[in-house]
Amino acid sequence: MDYIENFIILKKGKFREYDLWLKVFSPNKGLQTYFAFGGLKSKRRFCGCLDILNILCGKIENKKKGYYILQEASLIENFSLIKQDKKKIGVVVNSLNFLEKIKISQEEFKQVYLLLKDFLYSIEEAEDISFFPLLFKTCLIFNLGYLPHFDSCLKCKRTIMWEKETFFSFKDGGFFCMYCKKDNFIKVPIATLKTLKTIAFSTPKDWMKWNLDVNLKHTCYEIVNNFSQYHLQLAI
Ligand SMILES: [Zn+2]
Repeated sequence: MDYIENFIILKKGKFREYDLWLKVFSPNKGLQTYFAFGGLKSKRRFCGCLDILNILCGKIENKKKGYYILQEASLIENFSLIKQDKKKIGVVVNSLNFLEKIKISQEEFKQVYLLLKDFLYSIEEAEDISFFPLLFKTCLIFNLGYLPHFDSCLKCKRTIMWEKETFFSFKDGGFFCMYCKKDNFIKVPIATLKTLKTIAFSTPKDWMKWNLDVNLKHTCYEIVNNFSQYHLQLAI
């Protein structure tokens, strides 16, 4: 069965003389491997566009379960500014490696694809990208069913947005007030909680306008990294 779909190339490799395998992410199938026979040769079918980070529209043949052949493709975006900048490439590779290790369910493919696409468009334009890996990984984790409860104490339900500090439980995925905290919760300044909440509901387009304080970045990193290790067994 053939179908048409947009996808982003994350990795590629050569096999035999002119053939390529492509690791891609698409909004309907998620992470897939496509085989492009003649991918290094056929300008007519692939217009020389089978490069890493390119967004393409392709015609795909599903030979049998899990075996996909890319029949032809046309270029939508090639992110030429990212490819000219070693620092930007480093940030993207780091973020994509994280993405590949996370288990993503079918109903989440589309939102992850849109996050990844917006992330690439924003990196292409942005000048300061030092916060982008943290922001991308945080958004990804929070989007995949691990969104902490931000506004009130998980136990007594009192509003915590006006407290000076709150207490986060990795196990419960939420914040507690000073009266309900337990010894193994970590203390989180309210500025960090508010920053995490802002990140959770942001898109990569917003990140270009931000200037995150370095201390805030550090405390956010600590929480998200520990949270990710607890639930996904994966450091960010
Ligand atoms: Zn409480």
